[in-house]
Amino acid sequence: MKHFKIVSLLLAVVMTAALLGACAGTTTEKDVLTMGTNAAFPPYEFVDENNNVAGIDAEIAAAVAEKLGMKLEIKDMAFDSLITAVSSGSVDVVLAGMTVTPEREESVNFSESYATGIQVVIVKEDSPIATIDDLAGKKIGVQTGTTGDIYCADDYGEDAIARYDNGALAVAALQNGQVDCVVIDNEPAKAFVAANEGLKILDTEYITENYAAAIAKDNTELLEKFNAALAELKEEGKLDEIIGKYIKAE
Ligand code: GLN
Repeated sequence: MKHFKIVSLLLAVVMTAALLGACAGTTTEKDVLTMGTNAAFPPYEFVDENNNVAGIDAEIAAAVAEKLGMKLEIKDMAFDSLITAVSSGSVDVVLAGMTVTPEREESVNFSESYATGIQVVIVKEDSPIATIDDLAGKKIGVQTGTTGDIYCADDYGEDAIARYDNGALAVAALQNGQVDCVVIDNEPAKAFVAANEGLKILDTEYITENYAAAIAKDNTELLEKFNAALAELKEEGKLDEIIGKYIKAE
């Protein structure tokens, strides 16, 4: 009996120590917030002339980090590595113009939404493709692992899809005739069309979606803090200010 008590006491001590250790590893004690993104998605994220990652997502994350008393660090990586990076803990949060989808929600938690995205179709100005209905039988360029990729593969079949590492490469493939169109989010689409001669965006929109920050399932503490900070930024008008800096009202 006596032994049993000592053993349980020891066990309690060990468990408390483990618990304290685990707490020390969470965001409360950390002063750096690491954000994963794919900085080839203007105006949400892009590499600026000083070689820094800039854009809406970078500024939102910096504003959230400031509210949490943390310093923001950004890691640029392939879009289709982001979910793994955040769920494995190699970054704390992903902001990447990332659409909330039920499949992704199986691997990560999403914050409240901070923006809307629309999948649109970019074609050459003289393209025979006039509406979404003309996409059947055409070669569609997409960015690997994005919702544009997933929806188009579902709707038009794997063979219709040509996958590229980023939107700019997909647009280059459109320019040199390897694909007939590119399906991508509306704001990057506008940026790519503005930067390239002879392209246009179809008037008919493909799919509307919500952008949110992705956080590891077990990091509910950061999720709550992120949402609280985001709500403050919305209330203060700071979120609109950041978005308005990059997206001009039409
Ligand atoms: N919104 C799209 C998605 O989440 C594309 C995001 C991106 O390419 N950065 O899949």
